[in-house]
Amino acid sequence: MELELTPTQALRRRLWREVAGALQAGTLVAKVEDLAKSLTPFWRERGQSEAAARQAAAGHVRCALGLNPHPAGGETLAQAAQRALETGTPETPTIVAVPGACAGCRDMECAAEAACVTGALKKGPAGTVQVDNERCLNCGLCIGACRAAALSDKAEIVQVAKLLLDGRGPVAAVVAPAFAGQFGPDVFGEEVAAALREFGFHRVVEVALGADVITIKEAEEYLRRIRRGDPFMITSCCCPPFIRLVQKFRPRLAHLISDSVSPMIAIGRLEKAEHPDTRVVFIGPCIAKKSEARQRELADAVDFVLTFEEAAALLEAGGITVPRRAAAPALRDASHDGRIYGHTGGVTAAIMRSIAKLAPGTAVAARQGNGIKECSELLKKAEAGELKATFLEGMACPGGCVGGPGKLVPPEVGRQEVDEFAAEAPVLEAVSNERARSLYARHATAVNLTSVKPPDPVSPADK
Ligand code: SF4
Repeated sequence: MELELTPTQALRRRLWREVAGALQAGTLVAKVEDLAKSLTPFWRERGQSEAAARQAAAGHVRCALGLNPHPAGGETLAQAAQRALETGTPETPTIVAVPGACAGCRDMECAAEAACVTGALKKGPAGTVQVDNERCLNCGLCIGACRAAALSDKAEIVQVAKLLLDGRGPVAAVVAPAFAGQFGPDVFGEEVAAALREFGFHRVVEVALGADVITIKEAEEYLRRIRRGDPFMITSCCCPPFIRLVQKFRPRLAHLISDSVSPMIAIGRLEKAEHPDTRVVFIGPCIAKKSEARQRELADAVDFVLTFEEAAALLEAGGITVPRRAAAPALRDASHDGRIYGHTGGVTAAIMRSIAKLAPGTAVAARQGNGIKECSELLKKAEAGELKATFLEGMACPGGCVGGPGKLVPPEVGRQEVDEFAAEAPVLEAVSNERARSLYARHATAVNLTSVKPPDPVSPADK
């Protein structure tokens, strides 16, 4: 089943394919102005003036290069492309308003604003959308929702291609649990790994292995917390917008968040500990992971982040097709339970099963927030003391990561594929995965798997 794309999503995919293609052909700097010109009809058809359409198109091209949409000091697009190739670092913040794109949605509800639970999107004096980065969770749900493509994240296509080309050492691709089935029906193991290796990655590792390590850590932490009298534990350290929602908007609950880093950060650090000099690229459905990877205290773990859409554009430009189910050996890093982190309910099932193994008979009452709106409601109840649960999971995207903004297939298909891939895992529980246990044991003291101080909360009146 094909994913139905909004016009904005289709535009962005086309842009990444063209940027990746020009990169591959070595014509990025020469062709980048023409590329921007070819995008302008999108905004002209939506009633924007020629000047605004040109500004919007140029802004999107700059974001596709990993740069901010406003040109600094009169920089041309060709100069911007050259700079992106030379510096190799994406600019912050992750999510930005693209100047010239917003038409104000005067006669209808702003779909982007409606998708945002924290009020991070506001109309500026000219009636066009602005992002308040203090309030933004970086979930990226507004981007695909906006009819005018007025918002964008920064693609890291150029930076990853440059990293693979510079030959300064091995580069590992760590693939999110939601990767199963994204690159084709029943394609979830060695086929994807083979395509990524053909593209230039030296190693391909499942982030689900990091999820196994974190599951072991969180199962132990849950037992400790409940024994010391905590009312409940908030998990989903894997979902940065959910954690940021608690830290910034429900700070009174922040001490109940698991102290673990996310599986992405865990596997990035473990991979670098096991293979020094390796650089790590996370490939997943998530835009928020781009901000997580750039967070100062975590920036050592993962060098770049690609969404599945961006990775598909790079593979296509490289002429690499992911083969249909091959008879090659499947990836065997992770347990069943590490792999089901890819959908809502997976974190809960994984940690509950590991708790049952570690301390049989322990009662766990779990609740899940499916989508950022449900997460927000659940947290409101928890703060009011009305939540009848000892364990709280929250996934910002409806369906969990299989519903992430950078997905390639519909969430229900992704969920089924994740479950099928999980069924092929060599072991069921994370605590039974010898590979994860030994990684955890070898590196638990030298590698920091504990998260850092939460960001400052916003004003409580703003919830
Ligand atoms: Fe990212 Fe998954 Fe959370 Fe969506 S549910 S924001 S894809 S971690």
